[in-house]
Amino acid sequence: MYRNSTCGELRLADANREVTLAGWVSKIRKMGGMTFIDLRDRYGITQLSFNQEVNHDLCEQANRLGREWVIQVTGTVKERSSKNTHIPTGEIEIITSELTVLNASKTPPFTIETETDGGDELRMKYRYLDLRRNVVRRNLELRHRMAFETRRYLDERAFLEVETPVLIGSTPEGARDFIVPSRMNQGEFYALPQSPQLFKQLLMVSGLDRYFQIVKCFRDEDLRADRQPEFTQIDCEMSFVDQEDVLSTFEGLTKHLFKSVKEIDIPDFPRISYADAMRLYGSDKPDIRFGMQFNELKELTTGHDFVVFDAAEYVGAICAEGCAVYTRKQLDELTDFVKRPQIGAKGLIYVRYNGDGTLKSSVDKFYGEEVLRKWAEQCNAGPGDLILMLAGETEKTQKQLSELRLEMGSRLGLREKTNYKCLWVVDFPLLEKDEELNRYFAKHHPFTSPKPEDIPLLDTDPGAVRANAYDLVINGVEIGGGSIRIHDSALQKKMFSVLGFTEEKAQQQFGFLMNAFQYGAPPHGGIAFGLDRFVSIFAGLDSIRDCIAFPKNNAGRDVMIDAPSTVEQEQLDELGIMLKPEKKG
Ligand code: ASP
Repeated sequence: MYRNSTCGELRLADANREVTLAGWVSKIRKMGGMTFIDLRDRYGITQLSFNQEVNHDLCEQANRLGREWVIQVTGTVKERSSKNTHIPTGEIEIITSELTVLNASKTPPFTIETETDGGDELRMKYRYLDLRRNVVRRNLELRHRMAFETRRYLDERAFLEVETPVLIGSTPEGARDFIVPSRMNQGEFYALPQSPQLFKQLLMVSGLDRYFQIVKCFRDEDLRADRQPEFTQIDCEMSFVDQEDVLSTFEGLTKHLFKSVKEIDIPDFPRISYADAMRLYGSDKPDIRFGMQFNELKELTTGHDFVVFDAAEYVGAICAEGCAVYTRKQLDELTDFVKRPQIGAKGLIYVRYNGDGTLKSSVDKFYGEEVLRKWAEQCNAGPGDLILMLAGETEKTQKQLSELRLEMGSRLGLREKTNYKCLWVVDFPLLEKDEELNRYFAKHHPFTSPKPEDIPLLDTDPGAVRANAYDLVINGVEIGGGSIRIHDSALQKKMFSVLGFTEEKAQQQFGFLMNAFQYGAPPHGGIAFGLDRFVSIFAGLDSIRDCIAFPKNNAGRDVMIDAPSTVEQEQLDELGIMLKPEKKG
């Protein structure tokens, strides 16, 4: 027996108990004839004390320990004279009587503390040490709890967790595939699943009725704070359901997680159509922790010889309450913000609704105060408010205005991390047109069902067809998305043809699905939540990396194990792969 207690559980009530603990030396302090050690394990920190006068040899032994050594101690729990109110075990200490070194340690490359001196790169290289830090480990504990409560909730509702294969063919989620060469079938490749989409639909054809899986998915995309090449989904599919059934089941799951993990009651989720989300927030994942909705001012601005507005397809404005006092410098900052290449606006126009009721704008040359007053009315602005306007091509400008709205929300402190606002975005368009290629792509994926009433539009105006597709958005982050599926092979065929697949190509890539649909496919639909993003939102993290045990960096590298890496020539020969000369390792 290495221990009969953990470093997190002893309290005053345990006084005089003899205990054995094991863990890592977090800190050593020498004071007078005393030595104090903070002993750490996953559960907490317990102070060990050694008295030079009482046991000289033992105290000397303690003095020779180093940080992160692994030790085992036996001693008696005693009330501390100077208590530490910051930790749960802060009222007691262990008067040590025995000490065994289980393993020595090199000095770690950074301090294993909440506030560490280790930079990102170093901590990632030694991630196993980073994970000893409370703050990082806590995220993994949260992740476990969320996964566990997800399983509990879904199990209680008859969902079966079924594993689907990782070496598969291409799945159409719109990203690039990771591919794996096949030794036994030279010249052929597996693709890693972007999601188990096709398999979960086949499981519905199999009559499994309710499927879920907490599953790794792989997408070869450029990385951002909320993206990793491999990430985890809570993937689900249900038979004999309509959109309402899916939404209520997964609104229930979301509420259950908030309640069981964070003790927060979330009211029913509002719903907004994609069209309204774009019109009012310029985003299909609006952050509704604050209002500041868009106002359209095209009509009220046209015809005053201001070319920028006259030529614009769209003129939109947001009203920032209480910001009329913004200085020239602050307004310049906002202008620079919207002009950044990532946002791409040409300029920013403002109207100050001064506290004294007068209005002053950056386009006073073209618009008199009466006109400005009409704009203000349209924007529901009052004295003290600042109206910010962007103009240009509709979709682009709405996106720019959306960035500006979020920036203003942040500046005004309206995006508190612990204020959770959930939202369903529904009625997504089925298709998205790539103007350059002049062809349609599936907005969600090719198995998403059009709204039945819109099916005739597939022939006449495909871009106008709405889908039975939905996204769950929390605080402006897309947490999940799904759809009711096409379960009819004729409609699926039609969809492939709208997407520009030749019959041959569709057969080659998805023939198995269309065949399966000929054997009694039930109506079905589903959803997938991004677990990493979900955990990050719960933990208030800025990057999903912090809730993944062994994440990759922005270049897609695991710097700890140094992957990806080159392979031996024999391995390539076995696979029948020849590298271009400049790519040889
Ligand atoms: N497979 C979809 C995705 O990964 C989710 C779904 O439609 O269920 O986004």
